[in-house]
Amino acid sequence: MHSFNIDQAGYLYGKWMMRPGFWAITNRWLNFMYLLIGEESAVLIDTGCGEGNIRSFVESITNKSVKAINTHGHFDHTGGNGCWPEVWMAEAAFVDCRRTFEPLQERLAAEKPYPDFLMHALRDGDIVDLGKHNLEILSIPAHHSGSIAILDQKNRVLFTGDEFESGQVLMLKRRTDQEFFSTIARHQANIQKLKSRRKDYDFICPAHNGCMLNPEPYLDDFIALDQQILDGTAVIQPDTAGFGFPPDPVSSGSVFGMFGKQVRVEHGLASIIYIDN
Ligand SMILES: [Zn+2]
Repeated sequence: MHSFNIDQAGYLYGKWMMRPGFWAITNRWLNFMYLLIGEESAVLIDTGCGEGNIRSFVESITNKSVKAINTHGHFDHTGGNGCWPEVWMAEAAFVDCRRTFEPLQERLAAEKPYPDFLMHALRDGDIVDLGKHNLEILSIPAHHSGSIAILDQKNRVLFTGDEFESGQVLMLKRRTDQEFFSTIARHQANIQKLKSRRKDYDFICPAHNGCMLNPEPYLDDFIALDQQILDGTAVIQPDTAGFGFPPDPVSSGSVFGMFGKQVRVEHGLASIIYIDN
């Protein structure tokens, strides 16, 4: 028998304390999830790929009731949702949050205690109160149409999901698609919105590829990189490989291969990957 915090492949969940009442949690896929514990309740930001029992794991850290929130609808952030009877996310994530990437995930989702979990919508400006500890929801759709950032006013940290991270932001859109440029423009506007709140946070915690980013120079580098893509001046790198991203997703069998040929563009510390056909 596996103990509660070991996944089906025998890997332990990892955890570390960032501050009292603020934990980072990871799995073998190097997703970063975050547990925030207030005086009355707790929130888990993202629920991972669905392996093991993430709910038992976080309940071994706190005895407060834990509410699960998804930063967006991709399954590597929503796989453990079925451990809870209800989950919170942007309404635009409702459909995708049940869409698995591979057959293993489908089985894991079906085996959860609440496979038909209820979904509650979070909107821009909503406040989630953990007891003298407010989380503010900021809508930032681009990488996914149901993306939110979560501003922890007490810890002065901003959680950005997959919309802002150090490895690469995936824009799963074709450059030739009509909505490509509007998506890039929206990403840029979202980063400007996060920058406008800069006095409210000291660091940024994304869902992949390293946490606790210093906001500078990332914020300005992403704004500039989005502008270069819009202007057609972004320089495509000689290979696409990145943090946890295979050099050739199409022939490597990576789940990203289904999207076709992808390219990486960079400016300073910002990287974006998009589909170049
Ligand atoms: Zn994603």
